[in-house]
Amino acid sequence: MPVTYRRQIERLFAHSAFYREKLRAAGFDSPDAVGSIENIAALPFTEKDELRKSQAEHPPLGSHAAIDISQAARIYSTSGTSGTPLYIPLTRSDVDDWRGIGRDTYSKNGLKAGERVVTTYGAGPFVAGASLAAFEAIGCAHIPVGVGNTQKVLDALKQLSPQALACTPSYAMYLGEKLCGARTGLDRVIVGGEPGGGEETFRGKLEAAFGARVYEIMGIGDVAASLWGECEAQAGMHFSGEGIIHVELIDPDTEKAMELKDGASGELVYTHLRREAAPLLRFRSRDHVRIWVSACSCGRTSLRVRCIGRTDDMLIVRGVNVFPSAVREVVARFQPSVTGAIQIRPKRRGVKQDPPLPIVVEGDAALTEAIAKEIRNTLLFSAEVRLVKPQSLPRSEYKSKLVDYSEAAQ
Ligand SMILES: [Zn+2]
Repeated sequence: MPVTYRRQIERLFAHSAFYREKLRAAGFDSPDAVGSIENIAALPFTEKDELRKSQAEHPPLGSHAAIDISQAARIYSTSGTSGTPLYIPLTRSDVDDWRGIGRDTYSKNGLKAGERVVTTYGAGPFVAGASLAAFEAIGCAHIPVGVGNTQKVLDALKQLSPQALACTPSYAMYLGEKLCGARTGLDRVIVGGEPGGGEETFRGKLEAAFGARVYEIMGIGDVAASLWGECEAQAGMHFSGEGIIHVELIDPDTEKAMELKDGASGELVYTHLRREAAPLLRFRSRDHVRIWVSACSCGRTSLRVRCIGRTDDMLIVRGVNVFPSAVREVVARFQPSVTGAIQIRPKRRGVKQDPPLPIVVEGDAALTEAIAKEIRNTLLFSAEVRLVKPQSLPRSEYKSKLVDYSEAAQ
């Protein structure tokens, strides 16, 4: 590992103008000055906005890229949901690494050679498509159904008897409601692409709807697809990037590195150890997680995480950090009197909100006060709960929008 890191730092100085300048500006004018991985916390962070700026100023790949475009084997792009789309190039060796990481992640989920897996991932341009090769690497028969065709998914479940289904948690919830108690024969449902799969009550509802166990995975487009995956112990997602990607945990407010120990929570920060095309150093993921370093009951010793939420979606209500997925989790405790679907409708734009925070919940109107009280007791902020009829909030085939600013003052 130390040799790999050293080589990667040399690569950044030699081939990435962005990192050469960034490191020099921070007082590190050579790989020697950067030193070993033990000193990594002294180096500057990389923010997503810097990558967008780098690409806008130095099209097409940006000055952070460490290759010429002719060396790229694949070029993905981000969905652009939080800004301008960003190109993410990979070399052949990077593609191999991503496939290996994906194979390890889905193997942890229990996928085995000879099994069939239905996926609703798009094949491109998004990085989730990179996971598709991972299924063949395991030896599975992969049944890509793609996005936007629920009947095709239901037909595939019925006619091809797959052991596994992989999709986003929002879409799994939507499909679960469509099943109306029909048996699927699935052993497992693998969910990823947004937070939610790790929420206990949400997971319980999915497991009941499908009669299958739910395993969560998590990746991050700029770093690697399908980077974390849950094992049969369902005790958090194991890291699958050892030797390829270095992980740190930081306090997002103070930006200080935190000790990796059981129960610690903070933001994940990633450093590529051998990425060729678009290597990143101390990349701020905006994923807020809780971690465990102790051995899992499955016997694996790799780092485990449970996602708490995205700091991108986070709202601050009178000094209290509010993650929309955590609100959904608390509301889900009232099932079956609620469906579990919620939407936060802030009264004004921006991160900072005044109490009470308006929350629309699908369910029984008699619960308004009880839900508001449960939110206050668990999440320490005051909510104004409004009940609406089941199935009246929008369902998404990809990611559910938990915050809707349509009622915000301009
Ligand atoms: Zn495990």
